[in-house]
Amino acid sequence: MMKKRLLTGLQPSGDLHIGNYFGALKPFLDTYGEYESFLMVADYHTLTSKKDSENLKENIVNIVRSYLAVGVDPQKAVIFKQSDISEHTELAWIFDTLVTVPFLMQAHAYKDKVAKGLEANAGLFTYPMLQAADILLYDTEVVPVGEDQRQHIEYAREAATKFNNAFGETFKQPKELILKGLGVVPGVDGQKMSKSYGNTIPLFGSRDEIAKAVMSIVTDSSGDRPENVYRIHTLFKTEAELTGLYEEKKGKYKDLKEALIEDIEAQVAPMRERYESIDEVEVKKVLKEGNEKAQAIASAKMTTVRKKVGVAL
Ligand code: AMP
Repeated sequence: MMKKRLLTGLQPSGDLHIGNYFGALKPFLDTYGEYESFLMVADYHTLTSKKDSENLKENIVNIVRSYLAVGVDPQKAVIFKQSDISEHTELAWIFDTLVTVPFLMQAHAYKDKVAKGLEANAGLFTYPMLQAADILLYDTEVVPVGEDQRQHIEYAREAATKFNNAFGETFKQPKELILKGLGVVPGVDGQKMSKSYGNTIPLFGSRDEIAKAVMSIVTDSSGDRPENVYRIHTLFKTEAELTGLYEEKKGKYKDLKEALIEDIEAQVAPMRERYESIDEVEVKKVLKEGNEKAQAIASAKMTTVRKKVGVAL
């Protein structure tokens, strides 16, 4: 039986933290073998928020190193870079001409920006259509997302419907694959772990960096156990394994944090070693192979699209 096609991606916007690992990378690793999987470096999306060319370049290399270090096999998933496949931005333009301004105004990223009193650039405003292009260009059937990200797929479905209604059946309707049981990984202050809150535990940080972050986890003595430490600990050990430890070390926050550091280390140290062993030459080789596969599909699809809209002579 033909495998369904799955596509997902991460923005190369900085060092990954354990929230990205448990919220995005690990669920991908657990499922990608069941599908014909595409893993994209969403670099043009990053431009909506950051303008630092040297930094972007470094982060692009590092995100591919991250994919490989956590165990994605480039023979089993097509790892490619969005900006190398110019059909993404070309198709996004066509979708921009099909959807309305009020529709785009409902997008979370835009609304959040405006709610904070910040200025949104036009790229941020139209980014749901670039995302729709990312998905629809490959006739993607399945897009893994967290519960809070359903809207992304709804926008892609709307773009497909609008196009199909205007120019005839062309795009498949993608479905979200809601990743179960992930929850939100809390940061050292108990809020959602996020780079913008400065509360992260780095995924590929040194042992010292991890220890420093863990030691800064905010504890309060009101309950039976330090909840912020415990919640992060459950990502690395089962609740059954933790019960005895938290009973034995009741009230001893430093000991519990030290145990957590050991448990994080045991899991991330092998990934960190792989991460450090992957150089730019290997990254470029992986992207070259992945880009070729992605390009072949994207070119064929855009040839059809150009004919349908009437620009191909
Ligand atoms: P971001 O870097 O916030 O764009 O997130 C990249 C991916 O990591 C997305 O799929 C997020 O859902 C996931 N992610 C980021 N932070 C967390 C978190 N604290 N808990 C769970 N998943 C997260």
